[in-house]
Amino acid sequence: MKWDCDIIGDLIPSYVDEVCSEKSRRAVEEHVNECAACKKLLEQQRLMDFSAEKLEERELNGLKKIHSRIKRQTMISCGLGILLLLLGWHSFQGYGYLSKILYYLLMPLCMLTVYRTGEDGDVCVRAGKTDGWLMLGAAVLIVVSVGFFQIAVSQAIAGETVLGVQTDHAGPVLAMIWAVCFLTEFVILGVLWYRQRRLHIENRFRLCICITGIFLLLVYVESLRNLQDVQGVQVTFVRMSSVILALGFIGTALCWYLPGKRK
Ligand SMILES: [Zn+2]
Repeated sequence: MKWDCDIIGDLIPSYVDEVCSEKSRRAVEEHVNECAACKKLLEQQRLMDFSAEKLEERELNGLKKIHSRIKRQTMISCGLGILLLLLGWHSFQGYGYLSKILYYLLMPLCMLTVYRTGEDGDVCVRAGKTDGWLMLGAAVLIVVSVGFFQIAVSQAIAGETVLGVQTDHAGPVLAMIWAVCFLTEFVILGVLWYRQRRLHIENRFRLCICITGIFLLLVYVESLRNLQDVQGVQVTFVRMSSVILALGFIGTALCWYLPGKRK
């Protein structure tokens, strides 16, 4: 044999990559025709190259998929956000029972959808199970308390007893319950906001918190109007709601504008 196997072995990678000289190429081809060991080496090298190429291709496809998924999810979240705002605006104008019901049904659904969507996968982490449960808890609490509150207020306006309390004294009781419910919700939102800042949770999740904040603000506006008809509630209610409303505004604004820390 004209060439040593070691030399051919060194040439094989550049031969497979087609970057060797014409002379080396001929040397390799001549040698592998006579040497079974080097022929095998060449085949192995070709196989390795092929799988590396495949791997690269698969990674590229994966990236493309992630990119389009993020795009789709962003569109879904934005669409849901806009839909919620429109529905909320419509229902809290004082008409549209259908949109009100839709709103209450859609909100927890949107929370779940939005919180599971991803963004900036390499710098932010997905919201975890704890955040999901907290968000769900807040959403359920909002729906239940708003439902209860609307029934109680209409009872008080109709002159019926509310939770066994005479209408005359129902105002402060309602205001207390109302304040406790909504303060709890704000505490949950505060915890969520703190967690997403601390744990670098993705921005989509913040949108979710903001939707809840906006919903709460809408509820305040509506409740304020209803409560004006309940005797004895005005002063307490207005004082409490002003404080909570201010907190809500600040919290929502902070969620929206402060960028999350990046790793
Ligand atoms: Zn050989």
